[in-house]
Parts: sequence; C-alpha cells; structure tokens
Amino acid sequence: MARYVFITGGVVSSLGKGLASAALGALLQARGFSVRLRKLDPYLNVDPGTMSPFEHGEVFVTDDGAETDLDLGHYERFTGVSARKTDSISSGRIYSNVLEKERRGDYLGKTIQVIPHVTNEIKDFISIGDDEVDFMLCEIGGTVGDIEGLPFFEAIRQFGQDKPRGQCVFMHLTLLPWIAASGELKTKPTQHSVKELRSIGIAPDILVCRSERPIPEKERQKLALFCNVRPDSVIAAYDLKSIYEAPLAYHREGLDQAVLDAFQISPAPKPDLSRWEDVYDRVFHAEGEVRVAIVGKYTQLEDAYKSIAEALTHGGMANRVKVKAEWIDAEIFDREDPAPYLENFHAILVPGGFGERGTEGKIKAAQFAREKQIPYLGICLGMQMAVIEAARNMADLSDAGSEEFDHEAGKRRFTPVVYHLKEWVQGNHMVERKVDDDKGGTMRLGSYTAHLTKGSRVAQVYGATEIQERHRHRYEVDIKYRDKLEACGLVFSGMSPDGRLPEIVEHRDHPWFIGVQFHPELKSKPFEPHPLFKDFIRAAKEGERLV
Ligand code: GLN
Repeated sequence: MARYVFITGGVVSSLGKGLASAALGALLQARGFSVRLRKLDPYLNVDPGTMSPFEHGEVFVTDDGAETDLDLGHYERFTGVSARKTDSISSGRIYSNVLEKERRGDYLGKTIQVIPHVTNEIKDFISIGDDEVDFMLCEIGGTVGDIEGLPFFEAIRQFGQDKPRGQCVFMHLTLLPWIAASGELKTKPTQHSVKELRSIGIAPDILVCRSERPIPEKERQKLALFCNVRPDSVIAAYDLKSIYEAPLAYHREGLDQAVLDAFQISPAPKPDLSRWEDVYDRVFHAEGEVRVAIVGKYTQLEDAYKSIAEALTHGGMANRVKVKAEWIDAEIFDREDPAPYLENFHAILVPGGFGERGTEGKIKAAQFAREKQIPYLGICLGMQMAVIEAARNMADLSDAGSEEFDHEAGKRRFTPVVYHLKEWVQGNHMVERKVDDDKGGTMRLGSYTAHLTKGSRVAQVYGATEIQERHRHRYEVDIKYRDKLEACGLVFSGMSPDGRLPEIVEHRDHPWFIGVQFHPELKSKPFEPHPLFKDFIRAAKEGERLV
C-alpha cells in the first residue's frame, strides 16, 4: 500500500504547487522510492481537452490518450514516470461518473449526496493503483476555500482517516508576502490559510512557504507555533532562475527530509542527486545561445506551449547552449513578408494548433525555412502546413489546403492534401469516428507506433526505425499525394505500421527540415532530452547562420 502525500495550496493561486509536487517526486526517487503523481482539479469541465489554451495553458496528452492538465507534464519531466488517464481528474468527471451511476441505478434509489457519493468517487479514484508504488503524491488544484474544491478537501480528509495512522501526510503551499514599507515578511495570510484548512478538518504536517526574501528564524518559529507544525517542517521556497533547480533547492531546504520524518521513515535512505546536479550544471553553464522562432497562434500565453518551451530548453542542455525562444504571431505573415522577422533566427518551429487563423502565415514560415535552408521543426499542424507548402509551391497543387478549414459542404476551397480521418487502427483494433461526435475526445489521441525509413534523417536522429509518440489531432496528410510530393523532394520518412498514415516528412535537399504528425515535446525530459529537439538544436547551433 502506497504512502500518500496530499499537496494543497493557500493564499493565492499559481504558487507552483505542481512544481513543488514534481520536485518532491524527484527527491523521493533520488532516495530510492517509486512514486506516482496525481492531479485533482476542482473545475467542472469533464477534461481539459476542450478548454482554450488561452484559459488553461497547454493540454498535456498521456500515452494512454488522456487529455490532461499541464501539471502532468511537469510531473513527467521531473520523474520520468509516464502519466496515465487515472492520474488526472476534474470535478466535472467525478460528477459525470456519479450521475452516470445514478442513471444506471447503481445506487439503488438512494438519495445522491456530495458526502458520501461524490467523496467516495474521489477516494476510489485516489486509490487506483496504490499497490504499485511507494508514494502517491496527489495535488489538489486551486486554493483552500474555493467553493468547487470542497468535495476534494473533504475526500482527502476522510481518506486520511480511512487509512492506518501515518499513511497520509498533508503538505500545504502558501505565500509569505514581503511588505516593503515595513520591511517585513508577513505570516498572517499563511496563518489564515491554515486556519481555513483546519476548519475543514485537515491539519497540515508540512508548510511550504513561497517567499522572495530569506525567512528569518523568528518568522519560521512563529509560523510553526501558529500553524501547529514543527519548525523543521516549515520549508522555504525561494524564487528560482530555472525550474530545474527546484529538486536541489527543495532538498537544501529539507523538504524530502521533512516528508520522510512525517512518515517516520528512519533511517532515511541517502539521496543520490547526481541526475539533478548534472541538469543544474547544464542549465547554468551553457556556452553560447541559439535563437529559435516559434511561429504560432497562442503567443500571448507561454503556458499554451509549455512542453515545447521545455523541450527546447532540454535540447539546449544536451548541446550546452542556451535556447532563446521567441514567439511570433503567425498572423503577421498574412500581411507581411516573413523575412525581416525570421532571418535572424537559427531555427524555426511551427507548433500544433487548431483552426484556420494564422495558417497562411505558418505556411509562409515553412516556405521561408525551406528556401533559406534554416532548420525547421513542424509539429502536428506545423507538419501539415509544411506539406501544404510543398504541395503548393513545389508540386503544382496551388490550391492545396486542409479539410479542417473547408467548412461549407459542396463549396471546396482547397484540394484536401490534409483530410479528416474517420477511422484508423490502434494496436490491433479499428477506431471509428462519427461526423457528429462530440467535440471532446474525438481525436487520434495518445501513443502510436511509427516505422521510420532506414537511412532517413529521422531514423538517424532517433537511432531507431520504430518509435512510439503521442498524438492529438483529427486531420492527416493524405497518402494519395505521396508520390507527387516525394518526386519534389518531400520524403515521407515515417509511417503508421499499416502504411496508411504519414507520421513524418522531411525535405531531402535541406540540412534539417522535419515535420512530425505527433507531439515529441511531450516526452522530453531535462535528463533525457528528446532526440528530435536535441538534434534540432544541434543543427541550429552548427548551422552557418550561427552568429
Ligand atoms: N488541427 C490539426 C488537426 O486536428 C492539428 C492538431 C494539432 O496540431 N495538435 O489535425
């Protein structure tokens, strides 16, 4: 049976609970324990799949095809443990499960209530697979006191009681604001937040306090006294230059020790932090800088492309360079020539996206990269745009486009080089999609195998001819156009095992131009940079354009 750490937040949101959870996971691993991380989100959406990236940041896709919160990306990047469908749940999903059971008659006509029906559903979810790991870390989204979060807080309170003593530890993350006028760090908001938590029956064992200034001993004692925790369980979380410093920083502040003490695990196994020391060294001792233009749509909110930003950083770490990513709004190129915007970059990346807006600009960016021989990585929509570019400008299909943008039946604007896929093979069964399916969950999602052509650039990059990568899309490049495009130099170098779905394209006469239908960024880790990002940055670094 796993030991449980519940991570809650107070005072304000966005304090970095996800990062603290992920770093704690990494530290427990460094001490030889196995971990799994889970996110419980109070919002009412059934899953984040249909939430706008503007609102919620990127949708992180797991191997088993769940569309989850971007915090699961942090968890994977820090622990290397692949998240599963059962590692992310929202209130919406919980309620939807409960209502489905009610409709099926599973509750035998009883009155359905938050306690026990909703809380039981949450507890069942938390326990899934608890015999598989030493520690289960469960983060509750939002802050204590949020109305939607109450059933989750109540469920974890009950859970702590249901389990044998010493099986669950509660960790609460808060903020100590710095008041410049009086030159003080204030503990009162934390005291209130803990009071709120205790009023719903949860007494935190560990307090993690975000602070921009060192926490004086006096304040630490005060927090311990008023919040009823041990002084060595008041852990400081200072601002960091890089998130990858977090495991070492939290270790320095004694977080992992405090957690092991709370579980009375003694003697505590010694940690091996070499992985994180190496990561630290690569982040802070980079030589030179590579500039990458990311031509996309959701450029105002960096979280919308979180995993891409991280994967680029990892690629830089592998090559010991700093990667400076700049976000360029693709729509600018609808009106303007891309040259002045793009010519000073060492590489161009066109990420995934949905909808027509900005796509002509992305096509122009792909054309610019191809013609100017600048390293190009096209991800999902970025691959589709590169194929349309080649079709239009190299293969004489001047009206090439994607069915995604042809809404009016009977009035075709484009030759659908990229078409809407309705059925495909997953493992050894057929998946079918109806035209009028809901928007949620109708995509080709999760991990699929691709076969790479021997001798191709991608086969060289991966050092393999069979790979597994994660997908999230509705449209596919039409194999019908393969011969025509290959004759012009756009090689289809990765295909689905049945040979029907193009997974990777690359330009033969270009130093580094690769488009992939999947999302390689989701599998990159600081201690194991993804081969495509590693080689993309190498190409950018070694390219003649390096200044
Ligand atoms: N909109 C495209 C599709 O659905 C690409 C999706 C993506 O980039 N993730 O196929």
